[in-house]
Amino acid sequence: MDASTCLKIVTKLLVYVSLVFLIIVTILTGFYIYSRANTKLIIPIVINTWAFQNSASKSWEILNANGTAIEAVVEGCSTCEISQCDGTVGFGGSPDENGESTLDALLVDGATMNVGAVGGLKRIKQASKVAQHVMENTKHTLLVGEGATQFAIEMGFKETNLSTNSSLHLWNNWKKNSCQPNFWINVTPNPEIKCGPYKPHTLRTLKSKSSGSVINRFNHDTIGVVAIDNRGNIAAGTSTNGAKFKIPGRVGDSPIPGSGAYAMNNIGAAAATGDGDILMRFLPSFQAVQLMKQGYSPEGAAILAMNTIADYYPEFTGAIVVVDKFGNYGAACYGLESFPYSVASSEHSHVTVMHVKCQNSRPQYQ
Ligand code: ASP
Repeated sequence: MDASTCLKIVTKLLVYVSLVFLIIVTILTGFYIYSRANTKLIIPIVINTWAFQNSASKSWEILNANGTAIEAVVEGCSTCEISQCDGTVGFGGSPDENGESTLDALLVDGATMNVGAVGGLKRIKQASKVAQHVMENTKHTLLVGEGATQFAIEMGFKETNLSTNSSLHLWNNWKKNSCQPNFWINVTPNPEIKCGPYKPHTLRTLKSKSSGSVINRFNHDTIGVVAIDNRGNIAAGTSTNGAKFKIPGRVGDSPIPGSGAYAMNNIGAAAATGDGDILMRFLPSFQAVQLMKQGYSPEGAAILAMNTIADYYPEFTGAIVVVDKFGNYGAACYGLESFPYSVASSEHSHVTVMHVKCQNSRPQYQ
């Protein structure tokens, strides 16, 4: 074969390869454009944990009137704080060992990745609105305890006692019941039968920290809200009074960004509820959002986020709601029978309470 024939064959081959390449690229681009055009947008939308319909209804009213996702989350959480949803959000619930109610709240702006949060907020009822001030009026992300209270007062909030007859009644009964249940381990006197004060015991074998009977389906709930507004901006937030009979100073998962809630405009958002001392070790809301980035559906991301925790803590109780940027949503739960959550969107003319069945066991790692 002479050089010119060889050149002709190579040129022909190159033309064929280029043509095939061009055809493949055109087909793939076509598929991409087709799938994008057929991705139905279900926005605006709001989803919140549990059957807190008043909250979803307030958030929806805001989104429907062209309000922002941030406003919808703050107002949804605030509605629960005012109406003391289930006694586990807002004032007058979950007294700590001293009988005091303290509040945790979080707000995540998925458009700017700005975050505001308060933990162990004392004597101020509007935790979500204080978290909004942390986001809008400081360069900080999380303020806690007395400092958060002083900040709130400076921002114009009224100081008030968060205890109610019912929270004091609950606390008195707990004291009468030898301070059972409580969150202590490896201390003396034996925390399973006696009240404190406690001291660390000197035994060499320490009981391991486990999830367990203290936080369960009967004694906790957090409102977690995820919202997408008309402009496609996404926000998420939480509000809770934490765990009943917590050790004073305890802050749960709810005000921790990525744990209680998380949002990113180009992906979606998530919000969690349940045993916060366990949840916060795994950042389930962050994980769910990252899983969607990798291609998981909201439901798939929710299930995997819960399973990751259950693999280590089979007695853990928790749930998560997840939405992608198109408004597709899903939820998953573990350690409960079923988990109700509230949805309002252009697809539902009124707030709908959905239920998802929970997993209760996982194969265990050794
Ligand atoms: N996660 C909250 C906490 O541990 C309580 C809950 O959601 O049930 O503070």
